[in-house]
Amino acid sequence: MKINRISVWQLDLPLHKPYWLSGGRLKFESLDSTLVCIETDEGVSGWGEGCPWGVTYLPAHGKGIRSGIEEIAPQLLGCDPRQLDAINRTMDLALPGHLYVKSAIDIACWDIAGQSAGMPLCELLGARQPEPVPIASSISTGNPQQMLDEVKRYRDKGYRVHSGKVGADVKLDIERINLLSGEALDNETVYFDANRAWLPREAVTVMNSVSDMHSWVEQPCETLEQIDQVRKLTRYPICIDESLHDFSDLLRIQKYGIAEMVNLKINRIGGLTKARRMRDFCLDTGITMLVMDTGGSVIADTASAHLAQTIPASSCLGSWSCQEMVSVDPAPGQGARNIEGCFIAPDLPGLGVTPERSRLGDPVSVYTES
Ligand code: MG
Repeated sequence: MKINRISVWQLDLPLHKPYWLSGGRLKFESLDSTLVCIETDEGVSGWGEGCPWGVTYLPAHGKGIRSGIEEIAPQLLGCDPRQLDAINRTMDLALPGHLYVKSAIDIACWDIAGQSAGMPLCELLGARQPEPVPIASSISTGNPQQMLDEVKRYRDKGYRVHSGKVGADVKLDIERINLLSGEALDNETVYFDANRAWLPREAVTVMNSVSDMHSWVEQPCETLEQIDQVRKLTRYPICIDESLHDFSDLLRIQKYGIAEMVNLKINRIGGLTKARRMRDFCLDTGITMLVMDTGGSVIADTASAHLAQTIPASSCLGSWSCQEMVSVDPAPGQGARNIEGCFIAPDLPGLGVTPERSRLGDPVSVYTES
C-alpha cells in the first residue's frame, strides 16, 4: 500500500464564548484547525487533525502546521502509511522538531492502518479497556462564583472531572481553589491548572495555603526547573502539561521525580505514535496520565479518546472534549461524543470518523505523485 495523495484543509473553529486561561492573561475566541486526508493506491483513505489552542498557548500555530506539511508531504508520497514508525522517521528527517506539525498526518496514517486491519484504533494501539474515559471540563478563569457556576453547568451535562483554570493572582487563586474544592461532590475530581502563570514563590504560597483539594495542580510554572523547585516545597501531586514535548522531557520528569502525572496532548507531542511510546513508559514507571488534544473538532478528540481508552482507569484520569467548546462540527453524529461525561472510543475500524467534505470547502493544498 502506498500513499498517493495528501489533501489539506483549513477550518476555523469559533468558540461558543471567549475563554481565558493562565490567570486571564491569555484569551481565546477561535481556533485555526488543519484537517488532513491521506489517500492510497488501494483505495483506503484516512483522516487526521492538528489544532493548536490559539497562537499564544504553545510554540505552535495553525499556519505553521500547513507550512510544515508542505515540507513533509512530498517525502511521504509512495510510503506505506501502515508502517507508522517508518512514517515518523521520514517526517522527523524531512523536518526535525516541529512536533505539532506532524500529528494530523500520523493520525491519518493510524486511521488507514486500523481500517486495513479491520480494528478500531484503541485495539490496534493495545487493547480496549472496559471503563469509559472520563472527560474533564475546562473551566475558564473567572471570579470564584463564576467558576463554580461553570462547574455546575458541566456537572449537569454529566461531567465528574473538572479542570479549573487559575494563576496570576495568589489571593484570588486560594479563594478559587477553596471554593471549588469545597463544593466538589464525593464522586467528583476538581483539579487546578495554572497554565505556567505562577512564579515558584506564588505556586508555593498558593499550594501551601489552600484547604485539602484531594487532587493535583497542573503546570504551575513556566519551566521544568521551576516546577522542580515547587515540587520540593509542596505536598500536592503535580501534573506536567505544556513543558512535555518530547521523550527526553518525559525522561527528565521521571528521573528527577518532578511530577507524578503528565498530560499527553497528542498534537503537542507529535501524534499517536510518539504518544504511545510515552504511554508505555508512564505505565511502566507509575506516572498517571491525562490524554487529550490541544484543540480541534471531533476528529482530534476521537484520536485522543482511542489512546485514552487503552489505559487502565487507575492510570488515566481523563480526556477533554474540545468539540463541545466550538461551534463547527465537520462530522456530525460521528466519533467519540460526550456520554454522561465520558468518551467511549468508536467501535468502527480505524479512527471511526470521516468528515463530510461538503462542510470543509476546497482543500488549501493537495500533494500528489507527479
Ligand atoms: Mg493544562
